[in-house]
Amino acid sequence: MPTNLLRNLPSVNELLESPQLKGLVSKLSHNTVVARVRSFLDDLRSEVQTAAAEIKLPSVSELAEKIAQRILVGDEPPLRPVINATGVLLHTGLGRAPLADEAIAAMAAVARDYASVELDLASGRRSQRVVAVEGLLTELTGAEAAMVVNNNAGATMLALAAVAAGREVIVSRGQLIEIGGSYRLPDVMATSGAALREVGTTNRTRIDDYARAISERTAALLLVHPSNFVVAGFAESVTLTELVQLGHERHLCVIHDIGSGALVDFAQFGCTGEPVAAASVKQGADLVLFSGDKLLGGPQCGVIVGRQSLVDQITGHPLTRALRVDKLTLAALAATLRLYRDPAMARRSVPLLQLLSTSIENLKGRAERLAPQMAGGAIKAAEAVEDVTYLGGGSVPTQQLRTWCVALTSEGMSVDRLATRLRTGRPSVVGRVHDERLYLDLRSVFPRQDIDLVAAVRALGDGEAM
Ligand SMILES: *Cc1c(COP(=O)(O)O)cnc(C)c1O
Repeated sequence: MPTNLLRNLPSVNELLESPQLKGLVSKLSHNTVVARVRSFLDDLRSEVQTAAAEIKLPSVSELAEKIAQRILVGDEPPLRPVINATGVLLHTGLGRAPLADEAIAAMAAVARDYASVELDLASGRRSQRVVAVEGLLTELTGAEAAMVVNNNAGATMLALAAVAAGREVIVSRGQLIEIGGSYRLPDVMATSGAALREVGTTNRTRIDDYARAISERTAALLLVHPSNFVVAGFAESVTLTELVQLGHERHLCVIHDIGSGALVDFAQFGCTGEPVAAASVKQGADLVLFSGDKLLGGPQCGVIVGRQSLVDQITGHPLTRALRVDKLTLAALAATLRLYRDPAMARRSVPLLQLLSTSIENLKGRAERLAPQMAGGAIKAAEAVEDVTYLGGGSVPTQQLRTWCVALTSEGMSVDRLATRLRTGRPSVVGRVHDERLYLDLRSVFPRQDIDLVAAVRALGDGEAM
C-alpha cells in the first residue's frame, strides 16, 4: 500500500519551482540545490517504503520548506562563532583566547594587502619574519632573543630537537605531563630525537636526583610547569633557581616550559602560582617556552625566548620552517604584545583579562537581570546562582574563580536536549550541565553578548530546531 504514495511524490523540477527553493538557487548554486533535493527525495522514498503504517505526504510547498531548511542548516559553516557560557575562560574546544580589537584590526590590515613579512622596508633587503614581534618579546620578557612558532607543543619539540637531539634531557617524573590527549611530553620528546632521562618519583624530586643523572650524554635540564594538575601532600620539587645553578655549574642548557605564557602576575586576578615569563628569564632559564593563546590572550602560537646563541641555533633548524607562523598570527601577536607595554591598558583591552577582572558584583547583577528575561516558553525556571569556575586550557585546576550563572530547567525537555538545542541554535551557546540544570556561566560571556544570550534562550520556544 504505502508504495502507492511514491507516485504522488513531487518531481525535482516541481520542487525547484517553489519560491523557497528558487530563492536558494540564486543564493547557492543550481547544482547544489538539485543535489540536495534529490537526496531529500531519496530519503523520503525509503522512509515511505519502510514505514509500518501509512504516512501522510506533506504538500509540495511544505516539502519545499523542509528541504530549504535542511539546505540552510547544512550550509552553515562547521566553524562559527560561539557564546562561551561554560565559564571556562581558556576552553581549547572553543579556541582558547578571544582576540583584542587591536589584534583583529592588525590581522585584517595585513590580510587584505601584501605585507612586509620578510622584507626590511628601510634597506629593501630580506629579513626574518620574527622581527615583527622579536623586539616586543625581548622588551616584555627581558630575554636576549625571541622567536615564534605554531604552538607551544611545536616550540617544545623544536627547542629539544635543536638543542638536544641525539642526547639526553633530564626531566622530573612529576613533570611528564599530558595536556589534552595528543600532547604528552614523553612523546613530544621522542619525536624531537632527544632522549628522555627521567629522575625522581611522581611526588618527590630533589636537586641531587638531577645532579646524579648528569653525564656526558646530557644536553639540557628541562623544568615543566605542571599546569593542569597539582601534587599535594608528601611532595617536593626543585625550583628554577636551583636547577639554573646546577645547570650552569655543569654547562648545561636549562629550559623552562611555563605553559600558559603569563606576561603579568595573575595573582592580581586571584590566580596564584602561574609563572611569569620575565621572572623565568631573570632567574636564569636559558630558554623559556610558552603558548600565545593561553594567559597571554593572543593568537595560537608558541613563543621561545632566551639566550641569543640558543635562539639562533633553533632558528637554523629545519623544523623551524615546518612550524612557522603566517602574517596573520604575527600581526595579532604583535598587536596583543603592544597592549602589554602598559599593564593597565592590557587589563582593559585584552579580552581574557577583561573577563578575569570582571567583578563578582557585575556578574551577580547581570545574572539577576538576565534570569527573568530567560524564563517562560520552553524554560520552566531560570535562576541566578553563585558558583565557581576555572581558567582551563592547562591552568591549575585547584584555582577556582568565583562566578554567577543563570541555571535553566525546561518544561518537557531533558537537560541534555536543552544543551543540544542551545549549541545548535543561532547564535550557538555552549553551557555546562550541573545537577540536572543547564548553567549559563557569565564569567566567560562578554556583556555585549548578554542580549544575544537571552535571544538564544527565548528562541527555544519557537518550536523544534532542525
Ligand atoms: C598548554 C601547554 C603546552 C602545549 O601548548 P600548546 O600551545 O597547546 O601547544 C605545553 N606545555 C605546557 C606546560 C602547557 O601548559
